[in-house]
Amino acid sequence: MQDWEALGPDATVVVVGGGHAGVGVLAQLRSQGFAGQLVLISAENGSPYHRPPLSKKALLEGASLSLRPEPWYESNRVTCYTSARVTGIDRAARRVHLQSTSAPEVMAYDALILATGAAPRAWTDPVKGGDALGLVDGVHVLRDVEDAQALRAALLSSGHLVIVGGGYIGLEVAATARALGCGVCIVEQAPRILQRVAPQATSQLLRQLHQSHGVQLFEGAQVVALQREGQKISSVRIQTAEGELCDLQADLVLAGIGAVPRDDLAKACGLEVGNGIVVNAQCQTQDPAIWAVGDVARHRDQSIRIESVGNANHQAALVAAALMARPEPLPLVPWFWSDQYGGRLQIAGLWQTADRWVERQEGAQGRSIWSYQGPRLVAVDAWQAPVAYALGKKWLETGQYPPAEWLAHQDQNLKDWVPQAASGVAL
Ligand SMILES: Cc1cc2nc3c(=O)[nH]c(=O)nc-3n(C[C@H](O)[C@H](O)[C@H](O)COP(=O)(O)OP(=O)(O)OC[C@H]3O[C@@H](n4cnc5c(N)ncnc54)[C@H](O)[C@@H]3O)c2cc1C
Repeated sequence: MQDWEALGPDATVVVVGGGHAGVGVLAQLRSQGFAGQLVLISAENGSPYHRPPLSKKALLEGASLSLRPEPWYESNRVTCYTSARVTGIDRAARRVHLQSTSAPEVMAYDALILATGAAPRAWTDPVKGGDALGLVDGVHVLRDVEDAQALRAALLSSGHLVIVGGGYIGLEVAATARALGCGVCIVEQAPRILQRVAPQATSQLLRQLHQSHGVQLFEGAQVVALQREGQKISSVRIQTAEGELCDLQADLVLAGIGAVPRDDLAKACGLEVGNGIVVNAQCQTQDPAIWAVGDVARHRDQSIRIESVGNANHQAALVAAALMARPEPLPLVPWFWSDQYGGRLQIAGLWQTADRWVERQEGAQGRSIWSYQGPRLVAVDAWQAPVAYALGKKWLETGQYPPAEWLAHQDQNLKDWVPQAASGVAL
């Protein structure tokens, strides 16, 4: 870590962004005994909320879930400015500039935490070019609670949804839209859904699940045109993997093609960015007083950013420990979950370096997919298999796990594996 002394009792920490990461830093600092001033600046209107339900329960039922109860902010002496946006950072003077009706225009900090998250990737209109979002009535994105409300209202009055992008958000919205009675098609340009984020077997499992719920899936397919009646979308023309043109009926389109880090503030003040704000292992930028956490941050030794609640919370704990000059929390085994059709997929570890896989049936409904890189277990994907997930996560954390050959025997009970007796390879 660069040049940093523990925060004094009169210090001011300004957090930009009221998502899981930003609120996590506030909570961690207070729980570690920080006595100084905490300020939260959030561009969104209202109290910070849980983002994952926006494609699941909140989309289905229409109610969002607060991250912390309202009185929490007051009892933890957090000064909150909502509907307030940081527009610039003056690093030399250690000040931020704000646009808001209630907050001061300029605010000083001793430590600045950038927790500005990510924004939906812009989708180019296949017909007109440029950014289709906002130009075409009926094209939605999903990142914040207002997006979810607009999408829910549209789903309730629509019959046919086409989802562009077969990532987790697209798949979760597909499941929710089916529950709301919509016909759903998913168009994925990669050869398989979830190509970037999950092994082949997980894609296969979820493909079958969606097809069994009546979702039409087009993988390796391109959107060629949005057909309109007036401004309204009437169908989406695609070119399938086989090269055929096909018109999918649609009155509503969701562009779920990934997210890009909101790193413009950091870039404008001269901090290093590149697929996110570049940070060290403690989430500190090259400016010792500025830290970045959550979806917007990228570790300088890694090419990917991890977009998950688990990562946001872990980085919040890392930053709080560093600011208070306390011991670092234990390293995180990345974890993630996705809820679809009443079932849950849980993932621990990162599968991308794997070169072989073991698949297992878990009980009547469950599956587990174990990713190995040579002898090394690197990830487990567990569908409706909480025991496999819990054990797999523990095995990854301890570096003691069964060899792939042991797991491949379907009749082995996972709980029977005893670490001392087996030949796991330490991570
Ligand atoms: C629909 C959906 C479903 C998801 N499901 C899952 C899931 O099942 N499991 C999982 O682990 N993860 C899931 N995720 C990912 C997870 O929600 C994110 O990884 C997590 O929210 C990241 O938190 P964050 O605090 O870094 O960013 P965010 O939650 O994006 O918060 C950033 C905040 O900063 C604000 N902001 C930006 N710029 C400024 C500025 N200049 N001034 C003031 N405020 C600013 C933004 O408005 C936003 O409120 C999902 C995400 C989405 C969108």
